[in-house]
Amino acid sequence: MKICLDAGHYGKYNQSPCNSAYYESDMVWKLHLLLKKRLEEYGVTVITTRPNQETNRALYDRGAASAGCGLFLSLHSNAVGSGRNDTIDYPAAYCAINHSADDIAAKLAACVEAVMQTKQEGRIEHVPGKNGDYYGVVRGATAVGTPGLILEHSFHTNARSTAWLMDDGNLEKMAQAEADVIALHYGLTKQQAQRPAGWYEDEKGWWYQNEDGTYPKGCWAWLREATGGTEGWYLFDDAGYMLTGAQIAPDGKMYYLCEAPGIHEGQCMVTNDQGVLRIAEYDMERRRYKL
Ligand SMILES: [Zn+2]
Repeated sequence: MKICLDAGHYGKYNQSPCNSAYYESDMVWKLHLLLKKRLEEYGVTVITTRPNQETNRALYDRGAASAGCGLFLSLHSNAVGSGRNDTIDYPAAYCAINHSADDIAAKLAACVEAVMQTKQEGRIEHVPGKNGDYYGVVRGATAVGTPGLILEHSFHTNARSTAWLMDDGNLEKMAQAEADVIALHYGLTKQQAQRPAGWYEDEKGWWYQNEDGTYPKGCWAWLREATGGTEGWYLFDDAGYMLTGAQIAPDGKMYYLCEAPGIHEGQCMVTNDQGVLRIAEYDMERRRYKL
């Protein structure tokens, strides 16, 4: 999937009346780059409308730059009146009047509400103008067939929201949450298939990824261990993590799986004729353990 991200303003634009260090253009420049990175982790091809923060570009052209994309998203923070207003605090998505972006817009507005903890709830709006959409960027996106929306990250006339948006850690959180919402909406998953087949470990344990990106779960698999040394039978739980110790396999029988970290960890063990547990070697031709 291809998505076009638009930093809503260029240069130093829309200073907050609550904090003179806040400019909407700074915030959206940072946020759109963070969101780009997060979306790329989902395998999305992301294009942006400006080569740098200093570049001015016509509204309509920025929307039309999304030709060939599945979504055009322009990032903003809103303003009400000219002074500080701590009462009004909600995210809004201004969507194409052809309703092509309503579903994703509603989800993104709800996402911003949840992450920023705004006072009022997120909403979507449609603003018709003389020649279609009132907003030039959205009109440009619609002209090239892209579902388009403007996403307002609450109000920089609100002191709390302004402070929130000035925290880079918060923007990281926002970008991740928005990328997750977009990925879920379009059915995108992180591209595990691009990693080579092999063993991977995270904080929960080891799993094995096959060539096609799938992984064994709730079953046995005959595999070579991570350093390429010994082979053996490994048992994986329903989430796909390698099991160790005494475990009940899907056949209802209990097996011992080597618990000692190292080249045999996870491999199935059997008892030899002296009753001592040892790693089971398997005769692949005769399909049984070598005892
Ligand atoms: Zn704006």
